[in-house]
Amino acid sequence: MSVFRPGFLELGRLWETKPLERNYEVVIVGGGIHGLATAYYLAKEHGIRDVAVLEREYIGFGGSGRNTAIVRANQRTQENVRLYDEGLKLWPVLTDELDFNLMFYNCGNLNLAHSEAAVSSFRLAINTANFYGVRSELLDPQQCKEVVPALDISDRPKHPIQAGMYHPPGGVVRHDAVVWGLAKGASAHGVAIHQGVGVEGIDVDGGRITGVRTSEGRIGCDKLGIMAGGYGTAVCAMLDIELPVNPLTIQAMVTQPLKPFLHHVVSSGAYHVYANQTLKGEIATGAHMDPQVNYTTDVTAYYFKHQAEALTDFMPCLKDVRFLRIWAGLADMTPDMAPILDGNFAYDGLYLDVGWGYFGFKSGPITGKYMADFIAREEAPEILRPFALRRFLENRYMGETATAMKYGQWD
Ligand SMILES: Cc1cc2nc3c(=O)[nH]c(=O)nc-3n(C[C@H](O)[C@H](O)[C@H](O)COP(=O)(O)OP(=O)(O)OC[C@H]3O[C@@H](n4cnc5c(N)ncnc54)[C@H](O)[C@@H]3O)c2cc1C
Repeated sequence: MSVFRPGFLELGRLWETKPLERNYEVVIVGGGIHGLATAYYLAKEHGIRDVAVLEREYIGFGGSGRNTAIVRANQRTQENVRLYDEGLKLWPVLTDELDFNLMFYNCGNLNLAHSEAAVSSFRLAINTANFYGVRSELLDPQQCKEVVPALDISDRPKHPIQAGMYHPPGGVVRHDAVVWGLAKGASAHGVAIHQGVGVEGIDVDGGRITGVRTSEGRIGCDKLGIMAGGYGTAVCAMLDIELPVNPLTIQAMVTQPLKPFLHHVVSSGAYHVYANQTLKGEIATGAHMDPQVNYTTDVTAYYFKHQAEALTDFMPCLKDVRFLRIWAGLADMTPDMAPILDGNFAYDGLYLDVGWGYFGFKSGPITGKYMADFIAREEAPEILRPFALRRFLENRYMGETATAMKYGQWD
């Protein structure tokens, strides 16, 4: 059952509610950060205003409203570093442009290493980042403690801290502000945002996309962007396209508010945990994903126990602090932990922006900007080309997987 109610979350009409037309030049499936950013840039930078964003539930219902809001650019591979670096630099620009406070807090990220293998992996990531002009540096345990005094750098924790990868330009951005700001900006440029409209089928004719069948009837379109996050596989299945994407449940939670003491994002691959302190004082923390493929956003007691044990082991001052709230969302994981950004590959007029796993918030606006360019010019921008779907057919997997999964970039 849809949780959408007319007027719900419209916050004094940040965006205009328009009648649903029977035809649009571009239809975008999904009112998350990727769909909204693409629509915003299509209208703003390419003058394509006949655009509808169709959202089955409400703006920000998917991962875009459920993530832990961490942004950074110290990925491992050159393709990813370039995109995420541009993405990181876009937050202040977008805040100005949208005239909406996205609450970008450039507090820096500290990833902890607890083994020699993790330290060497950090060295590789740091060298790649520095080569592309992204600030990232290796800290010894004492330097880690200077950055985050709450860390226990003794031999007592189960996984003693051996080093840290410090990335000062990263931080956090308020996730719901981002979707609301983008919706406001897109609407101001003429985009139609339709909440509570689900896409149930896709029409093609002679190898071209011609429209979508929705809960509110058929809508014709020349171009279709599938930007449905964890539900992207289900939407692509409407075209009999099987994506190499596994939707996995990922959970996050917040503690009771505390006086400010944690001024950076801290993460640890060995403990499978990452945390930051919100402006309200809560510790927002996320964990690894459930291993089995599923579409549930139910939560489990296991993660309370896991997070509590992990966090208090290396930040013992958190003992006796209570969790207040837990939630879950879907991560659309590809085998190489890099997204699928493609267009005109199976049908003319079809564009895909899916498979972001748990990296899709930080990359949202910049990818939307390039996807808008792709849709408008019908030619993939150079920076997006490595992310085409055919890399899986050609066995050209990207190298994000090893570092991220084994050694600690869990956000
Ligand atoms: C707990 C958690 C923590 C995370 N932490 C981080 C983090 O710290 N940093 C980071 O970068 N990323 C993080 N992520 C990942 C990030 O949130 C996602 O990658 C990102 O939000 C994806 O955005 P999107 O716009 O592609 O998809 P979504 O935000 O999921 O939006 C897709 C939308 O499509 C709609 N939809 C689906 N099917 C249909 C249909 N048939 N018709 C119409 N609409 C449809 C859905 O309702 C949804 O609103 C996290 C994710 C979770 C769940």
